[in-house]
Amino acid sequence: MGGRLDRKTLEEMKGRLERRLAELTKSLGKHDKLTSEPLPSDWEEASSIKPEMDVVESLERGEAKEIRMIRDALERMKEGTYGICAGCGNGIPVERLMARPDSELCVSCKEIRERKGR
Ligand SMILES: [Zn+2]
Repeated sequence: MGGRLDRKTLEEMKGRLERRLAELTKSLGKHDKLTSEPLPSDWEEASSIKPEMDVVESLERGEAKEIRMIRDALERMKEGTYGICAGCGNGIPVERLMARPDSELCVSCKEIRERKGR
């Protein structure tokens, strides 16, 4: 068995996620000419207004997506569901969480989802 998350590991994950979140938020803020909001909720609308910002925007979209995933992960930590696969309800191996702290799916569910195509 690949061990359940213990509190110490969970705290460490939380620290890593929070640092990564801070980094991403700062990085998004760098191209702040686009918008005064650090994380606009409606990118579609923003892109229709500023089509010339496509490149920056797609970069930010990736960052914004990661921010959302990290926030979700932190939320799951609060709820106590962190480390549990959202697909099958089994525990996600600690090794996988170490590699991708924002994982919400175990490897097999992720593969299934990827095969279906996002
Ligand atoms: Zn699963």
